[in-house]
Amino acid sequence: MGEVGEEKREVVFRDIRRYYCEFCGLCRSKKSLISSHIQSHHQDVIESLKDDATENAKGSKMNICEECGATFQKPAHLKQHLQSHSLEIEIF
Ligand SMILES: [Zn+2]
Ligand SMILES: [Zn+2]
Repeated sequence: MGEVGEEKREVVFRDIRRYYCEFCGLCRSKKSLISSHIQSHHQDVIESLKDDATENAKGSKMNICEECGATFQKPAHLKQHLQSHSLEIEIF
């Protein structure tokens, strides 16, 4: 059957280093190829990631309202917002 080819295949794989695109899983033998691929295909994603990083660096963690998903820079703002939710509930 195809048993003869298996050994050869292993040797080939052992000698080739592979790098993967973390965004789409594309495989290349050189890291520089992946870098240029990412720059040409996933620039938008990188830009949005940068935005996230700067926001995280600015303040602490994101404060997210579990009720409606609104985000706030400061926990105090989230608290105020949550109070408005509980007020709504009281009215009903
Ligand atoms: Zn990719
Ligand atoms: Zn909310």
